[in-house]
Amino acid sequence: MPELPEVETIRRGLNEHLPGLSIEEIEVFFPGILKNESPDNFRLRLLRDCFVQVDRKGKYLLLYLASDQVIVIHLRMTGNLYYTTPNYPKEKHLHLLFILDSKEELRFVDQRKFGEVYLILASQVQDFPPLKKLGLEPFNSSLSLYKFEEMLKNSKRPIKQFLLDQTKIAGIGNIYADEALFLAKVMPTRKADSLSREEIRRLFRAIREVLKKSIKAQGRTFSNYRNARGEAGDYQPLVHDRERKFCPFCGTPIEYTRVSQRGTFFCPKCQK
Ligand SMILES: [Zn+2]
Repeated sequence: MPELPEVETIRRGLNEHLPGLSIEEIEVFFPGILKNESPDNFRLRLLRDCFVQVDRKGKYLLLYLASDQVIVIHLRMTGNLYYTTPNYPKEKHLHLLFILDSKEELRFVDQRKFGEVYLILASQVQDFPPLKKLGLEPFNSSLSLYKFEEMLKNSKRPIKQFLLDQTKIAGIGNIYADEALFLAKVMPTRKADSLSREEIRRLFRAIREVLKKSIKAQGRTFSNYRNARGEAGDYQPLVHDRERKFCPFCGTPIEYTRVSQRGTFFCPKCQK
């Protein structure tokens, strides 16, 4: 599933390219992707509208238009959003297509069909329920070390489960939770309130470090994630999905467990 680095990479790519382009035609191939509007209304409301800016909140993309409408998109498991030329072959799982006045196309492709697309007004963004529930942004100054420590001290859940909770910190998913806990040398199964000050400080730093590193690499390298130009990322996980391969720090084979139903990878020697 795309997490903060992948969604942020897509945002940056779209934001470099879309502003100033207008929508000449829309085709909806899978109506189920539109969560709050019919295909006909979606098309009518957006035809000839012009992209202004692309923002991100947690794992949501917000495409702002000149009319003060906003297309809100969650990619879920396998969604991809990218622009391409019309002669690029149409994908089997192409669900939504915007034809732009540059004659390029903005395509939403999603193999598993869990992706979500909403059309709302800019004035509704603040109170839009899926966005309103989101917790703090990892790179926002509102998530201070002090605030992070306070949140952990009030949670008895396993630390990994805490990190996955989008209502606490937004944007961290299964991969980067494993990676951050590995860098911080903390076992994913530890109760959040059992972490020492030093461990909390290491984890706080590790979260930003791993997200930054992955954004720089344009997201992870495997699975069907693609950036806004349809290219794969280059981030190579250190422990995630590397069961029985060797820990890059100590050479011990990486182990696998489950934390609240999520596949979890860790080094049994480095992480305490
Ligand atoms: Zn190790």
